[in-house]
Parts: sequence; C-alpha cells; structure tokens
Amino acid sequence: MAEMPFVDIDIEDEFAVCSTYEVNTKKKRKRTAGRENEEDSERKKKKKKQYRPNYFVSIPITNPEITGGIQAVQDTILQKDQRLSKAMVHCGSLHVTLLVMHLSSKEEVSTAVGALSDSKSLVEDLLKGKTVDLSFRGIDHFRNEVGFVKLADSDHTAVLTEVAGAIKKIFQEKGILAGGDRAFKPHLTFMKLSKSPKLHKEVKKIDPSLYEKFKSHYFGDEILHRLDLCSMLKKKQPNGYYYCESSVILGEKRAAEPDDAELLSLSKRLVENAVLKAVQQYLEETQNKGKQADGSPGKTEDAAGGSKHENEHDGSK
Ligand code: AMP
Repeated sequence: MAEMPFVDIDIEDEFAVCSTYEVNTKKKRKRTAGRENEEDSERKKKKKKQYRPNYFVSIPITNPEITGGIQAVQDTILQKDQRLSKAMVHCGSLHVTLLVMHLSSKEEVSTAVGALSDSKSLVEDLLKGKTVDLSFRGIDHFRNEVGFVKLADSDHTAVLTEVAGAIKKIFQEKGILAGGDRAFKPHLTFMKLSKSPKLHKEVKKIDPSLYEKFKSHYFGDEILHRLDLCSMLKKKQPNGYYYCESSVILGEKRAAEPDDAELLSLSKRLVENAVLKAVQQYLEETQNKGKQADGSPGKTEDAAGGSKHENEHDGSK
C-alpha cells in the first residue's frame, strides 16, 4: 500500500485494542456471548476502517538543507541495518502533517478543497504578515516505531499549533471528519516501520543507537509558505510527493484578486474614459449647435454614436 501518514499505525493501534478486548472477554463469557462479542468487535473494526484517515493537510518540506540532512540520517541507519530501507520515507514526500481527515466522496473532497481555500485568509489574518520559521533540530521517536526530526520549541512552533487548531476548526465546521484524539505534536517523519507490514513483523522496534549521531543535529529551517490537501492513497507524483487535491500559498494574492497597482491602473482608466466621454459629448454638442445654426440637420440621439464609442472604450479595458 502507498505510504500513509497516521493510517498504518492508527489501524494497527485500533486493531490491537480490539483483539485484546476480544481475548479478555472471551475468558469471562459463555460461548454465545463470546460470539456476539466477536460480531460486535468485527462491527467496530469495520466502522473504524470505514472512517480511517485518507487525506491530510501537509506542509511540504522543500529546503534542500533539511532533505539532505535527513538523507544522511537514513544512509547512516541503512549502513547499519539494510532491512530498514523499506521503512524510509522518500525525500520527495517529507512533510509536516497539520491535520488528518476522512473524506468519503467527491463532494466531501470538494468541501475539503473549499475549507483549505478558506484556511488561507484565516491563517494569513492570524499571522498578520509575520513568517512562521520552522526550525528542525534533533531526532525523537513514537514508540520506537516512527523516527522523526523534531521541531525546536519556539514562538514559531506555538504559532504553528495555533494555525493547526484554526484549520481543524474550519474543516470541522464544514462537517468534515477531521483531527484525531491526539494532541497536535508537529514532527517530520523520516522513517516508520508501518510502511512495510512485512518488515514490521520482523523488526518490532527501531534501535535509537542507529541514529545516535544525529540526536541533536540541526537540520535547517523551513518557512511556512504552502499548505496542501493531500491524498494518502492516490498514486504519488513523480517527485515522490503526495497527490494534491489543492494547495494554497500563504501571503500571496488569489489569482482573481487585484493588487493595489492593478486597482490604481483600473481607476485611472475609468477616469480617463469618463473624461474622454465628456469631451466627446461636448464636442458633438457644440458641432451640432454649429450645424443647426448653419441650417444643417442635427444628429438624432440614436445616430449620435455615443453608445458605439462607449463600447469601444469598454473593449479597451
Ligand atoms: P506522519 O508524520 O504524519 O506521516 O506520521 C507518522 C506516524 O506517526 C503516523 O503513522 C502516526 O500514527 C504517528 N503519529 C503521529 N503523531 C503522533 C503522536 N502525537 N503520537 C504518537 N504517534 C503519532
């Protein structure tokens, strides 16, 4: 299966809880009760499977200093244990997950695209023109199954947590099943055993001594610039990054939104057009008056051609 943030491990977690529950209750209850319980457990499993995350909001990691540093960590680990190659995250798909969600139809995907689009202005308002500088330093792990580069604690990380919370609210307000029970802990995953169930059977834990050398290594900074709505399941892009349903660039005007210079030039053109029209009308009126004084016929309103000229000016906009 394609590389999926949250999904693999979450499913395993949930399944583990289910099977423990099953074993414990089987001991206590009669056979029939046990069967009912099994059915109940199956139903719960199916429901969880149905709603497991399949999309996420991602901050792509594009700084070559960071990706290069991560490549060095991965190489160092692989020199010691080649089996772990299947656990490595491709450098092109490095990202920080801001929010996971389950989208079950095309309609829900387009609602999520709308939510991401709304997130842009909300996040920009929240940032008030300030940049969010994400500084990556040191390595940590989740249960020795996921290896990640840490985000240095700073005001910027606190702002990122606020941003993640605000985005989650927008998605949830649109009725999207977004966010899990876990508190937001920003991290940059470079390896996870769940990428290969076969490997995970063989290797239960990642030995921290494999990346000891990089425990406090500074990897670099990434400026928060883009947010992507990515699919966990669709085929990845040739560069290794996830399939994006949509992206927003922070601090950049929307295509249809004119900037100050455009607005100025537009209002200049409107004033010029209005002045031209007034001059033209004045000239026509004085000409008509002159012709009428000569005894020649004046122009009727229809034949005045004012509307034609108006259209010409409109066309030049
Ligand atoms: P990601 O970096 O989003 O691809 O996540 C990698 C893995 O880390 C996922 O499989 C998650 O299950 C796991 N994970 C993410 N956040 C947490 C957390 N706060 N605590 C424990 N595991 C987590």
